[in-house]
Amino acid sequence: MPRVYDSRKRILVTGGAGFLGSHLIDRLLAHGHEVICCDNLFTGTKRNIEHLHGNPAFEFLRHDVTFPLYVEVDEIYNLACPASPIHYQHDPVQTTKTSVHGAINMLGLAKRVGSKVLQASTSEVYGDPAIHPQTEQYWGNVNPIGPRSCYDEGKRCAETLFFDYWRQNRLRIKVARIFNTYGPRMHPNDGRVVSNFIVQALTGEPITIFGEGQQTRSFCFVADMVRGLHQLMDTADEFTGPMNLGNPREFTILELAERVISLTASSSKLVFLPLPEDDPRQRQPDIGLATSEMGWSPEVDLDDGLLSTISYFKERLQ
Ligand code: NAD
Ligand code: UDP
Ligand code: UDP
Repeated sequence: MPRVYDSRKRILVTGGAGFLGSHLIDRLLAHGHEVICCDNLFTGTKRNIEHLHGNPAFEFLRHDVTFPLYVEVDEIYNLACPASPIHYQHDPVQTTKTSVHGAINMLGLAKRVGSKVLQASTSEVYGDPAIHPQTEQYWGNVNPIGPRSCYDEGKRCAETLFFDYWRQNRLRIKVARIFNTYGPRMHPNDGRVVSNFIVQALTGEPITIFGEGQQTRSFCFVADMVRGLHQLMDTADEFTGPMNLGNPREFTILELAERVISLTASSSKLVFLPLPEDDPRQRQPDIGLATSEMGWSPEVDLDDGLLSTISYFKERLQ
């Protein structure tokens, strides 16, 4: 949509009451833009955006992206989708609908108003990767019929839709493949590994290691991630991605548990539980494209990011 009155952009963030979305909104508002946050509050909470109440540049819409949405905006960040395995497996059909129907509606909206649209895709499109580290050229190793498929295949289909709207309608699209990201405002019951371990360590509960803890992940702090998403939206119109965003420093889950115990000075013991089905064994982004295309790389190391997340949970759990 042409900017009629001034140079600030009107930006829609779906999933804006969630962990990543709420940080992204803070950043966009700090850059002087107007933001519409659309969220059905499935895993997100008003608490994540309550500090924005009364800000005239901010508007909250309780809305499910599987239904059409008619607003006038310059840019769309499509983040709506539960991201934690326990939540996306709670109602797997709804998870696929959110990714697929949500993408169609946001692409239809972008087509009507002529806006740019960015998709929050995921490293899960690589499945249990046979290539390490993962580059954007790798097509992935995904089980289409397992318990994680509603999320993985939903996100893969969303990417397909983005590229078909780009080919068919010349939409300006950006696809970010986000690797494991953590930080303040993750829900204490989110279920993902960093929040689980920190909450367990702070409450003296056993640290739940799935499998033997030898599987790896590469953890990116949220401030680095939202900077990357913002920069990706601002790349040249011809640039579509997909682009990996994540921190290439790889840790085993056991190493993560040890870091959390040490940084919280916790007396929690480790407990070993069965590994969930189809749990990827390793994951590390190749971020060469993000670095060459937009000079992006993460700046926050794991200990600093964990300390900031730990202080958030300490306050939250009081
Ligand atoms: P989150 O669960 O905190 O946020 C997701 C938000 O989407 C929530 O606020 C939720 O209420 C909302 N939502 C879910 N279904 C919706 C629907 N049908 N309509 C409207 N809103 C809906 O998770 P997050 O970590 O902030 O993830 C945000 C996005 O980034 C997701 O699309 C996720 O797949 C993607 N992503 C995140 C990570 C990560 O490590 N955090 C990694 C890869 C991809
Ligand atoms: N859509 C939307 N907001 C808009 C425009 C479209 O939610 O401002 C939805 C619309 O309901 C449709 C989808 O986006 O289901 C895809 O729109 P598109 O124009 O690509 O396809 P069509 O309307 O022809 O199915
Ligand atoms: N995990 C774990 N204990 C937990 C939660 C997760 O050992 O309490 C493991 C999980 O099996 C996986 C890794 O940590 O190997 C990351 O899990 P998460 O759910 O955070 O993200 P994803 O599997 O989607 O990368």
